[in-house]
Amino acid sequence: MKCTTEQELVKLVKRSKPFTKDGKVADYIPALEKADPDKLAIAVYSKEDGCLSAGDVGETFTLQSISKILTLALAIMDAGEDHVFSRVGKEPTGDPFNSIAKLESQVPSKPLNPMINAGALVVTDLIHGETSDEKVGRILQLIHDMTNNSSIGINYEVADSEFESAHLNRALCYFMKQHGLIDNDVEMLLEAYTKQCSVEVNCKDLARIGMVLANEGRDPETERKIIPRYIARIVKTFMVTCGMYNASGEFAINVAIPAKSGVSGGILSLVPNQMGIGVYSPPLDPKGNSIAGIKLLENFSSQYELSIF
Ligand code: GLU
Repeated sequence: MKCTTEQELVKLVKRSKPFTKDGKVADYIPALEKADPDKLAIAVYSKEDGCLSAGDVGETFTLQSISKILTLALAIMDAGEDHVFSRVGKEPTGDPFNSIAKLESQVPSKPLNPMINAGALVVTDLIHGETSDEKVGRILQLIHDMTNNSSIGINYEVADSEFESAHLNRALCYFMKQHGLIDNDVEMLLEAYTKQCSVEVNCKDLARIGMVLANEGRDPETERKIIPRYIARIVKTFMVTCGMYNASGEFAINVAIPAKSGVSGGILSLVPNQMGIGVYSPPLDPKGNSIAGIKLLENFSSQYELSIF
């Protein structure tokens, strides 16, 4: 399907640009505060056209919570679906991404889904590796395979800043360790988690990862299987139900395609069997989603009638 052109993407970026003035760049991880709030970019990857892009596509940023969909896929490959979902649930929360509240009210204690921080920490714990470097090495390998870009690495300034300021995530881990949900040493796990969140990419990388998921886990150029189809489907379903934090319902109505956002301002989205999409704009709404990024996706989805529903 011929979906779009770079000229059309340029127009869409221009239309959404005024929204970069709204919202606030994340500052609870000190290194994220340095992002330029004016940046806005989109990349769209399809089998027919390869990668088309517009705006500040050269900008790099860290994956943050977008990494949660990749670690979920890897943990299911490593530990098996049953074991992963014995430790993390499948339901949206309605709470902020870093909330601790439901951990205590759920009996037995179990994070509600793998897209909130508590669930993502449990998931990273289940990825094979004796050390944080081994875990992170395997996460990076998956990212290199999905992007076909082996130069992707970690932004250590962000990783260190996040590790030092991860008081809430530490609290979540120690709480869950007490309840038998975490096997490994908490500091080792936090090191792996903060590094997975600090993997540095650009919009084109996000779009290609989205295309692999859209293509049922296969490389769009070689058709090599990177992720089993049933796992790609689980991941895409979580993107719809929980990918945009506690604004996932509104996003599903207004934009109507699977997506996962991160507090750096990136959003990875896709249309099943058609395309992967990456957008970037750092200022966030109070729930942690990129305001101009959502606007751009909303306009793109409505212009090309991309709704999956
Ligand atoms: N590294 C961030 C955290 O754990 C990820 C949050 C996000 O992007 O939603 O707080």
